[in-house]
Amino acid sequence: METRLTLGARERDHDGRHGETLDTPAVTIAATQTFRGPAWDELPDVRVLESWPPEEAVPGVEVLLEAVVAVGPGELDLLPDLRLVANYGVGYDNVDVAACRARGIAVTNTPGVLDAAVAELTLALMLACRRLVVPSDRFVRDGSWDSIWSRPSRLGHDLAGSTLGLVGFGRIGQEVAKRAEAFGMQVIFNRRTGGLPLDELLRTADVVSLHVPLTPETHGLISREQLPLLQDGATLINTARGAIVDEDALVDELVSGRISAGLDVFADEPHVPERLLDLPNVVLTPHIASATVETRAAMTRVLADNVLAFLRGERLPNEVFG
Ligand code: NAP
Repeated sequence: METRLTLGARERDHDGRHGETLDTPAVTIAATQTFRGPAWDELPDVRVLESWPPEEAVPGVEVLLEAVVAVGPGELDLLPDLRLVANYGVGYDNVDVAACRARGIAVTNTPGVLDAAVAELTLALMLACRRLVVPSDRFVRDGSWDSIWSRPSRLGHDLAGSTLGLVGFGRIGQEVAKRAEAFGMQVIFNRRTGGLPLDELLRTADVVSLHVPLTPETHGLISREQLPLLQDGATLINTARGAIVDEDALVDELVSGRISAGLDVFADEPHVPERLLDLPNVVLTPHIASATVETRAAMTRVLADNVLAFLRGERLPNEVFG
């Protein structure tokens, strides 16, 4: 059976999705996009799918390279010969791992190489919110510098001497802690295996930052009942996953002006709640926490290492099991 796919790895540019369309026989490795970095060119004959999910079944594809797209039973039905899903990212909540396992499909991710980049964006959002960087930029641009600088409402808060509450204290959470300590913050944390109870952390911290994976247990972990535990004037940073917070409840809190937030992730990306768009107490970024040249190349290296191990029949360095 023939299917419409775009040019393979060695034939395309790095922007992906723009390759010349060919009618080709079914292929072994398919990708939802290309991935940047030298390791990409080590992969044999990768074909970039025109759309996700594919419009029709694509027999013959044994390896799928993907980022942030849904891979569940419906999508798996369209790739009947699949044996590996290589997820570009450490978070793999977009992949139904149980459904993959039930079909004998392995799943890998790219942990460890993006910790610094995510920690840096976390600090950037923290600084932006606490020091009012985005509204201050607007004041300069709209010519209101003279009249605003000394108003109490225009004063931010020091990171130094404030308390940071980390929800999740794994690879990324610990990198955030190191950087926050360098800024003079006191760090407290909550994790499955220790730390402060979540409610106590929420009541205590000036800044709360989320670094747990999205799982059935963490879905809605920060609920409508818990958001009021945050101190007046506290800041919530989310570079983990949008659905970890009750987004409607968070928007209500932000509209009230009681707290501020720096958000890189949303419950239904790329949809961002309309009510957030004009708020001065919110800084919004489009899921870019790992988006640096260096980190994306390192993620491609890990992705490729898993695929190459699979092709050689070796143990997968970063297999996930659920
Ligand atoms: P990790 O090393 O596995 O750390 C996860 C932490 O979450 C661990 O401390 C774990 O507790 C804790 N945790 C898990 N379930 C919990 C629960 N129910 N209650 C409390 N704590 C819980 O993961 P990571 O590499 O730091 O990555 C964390 C997440 O960041 C990823 O899963 C991904 O969703 C997100 N992320 C986002 C971006 C982005 O672009 N915005 C980029 C990279 C990662 P224990 O230590 O006790 O096991």
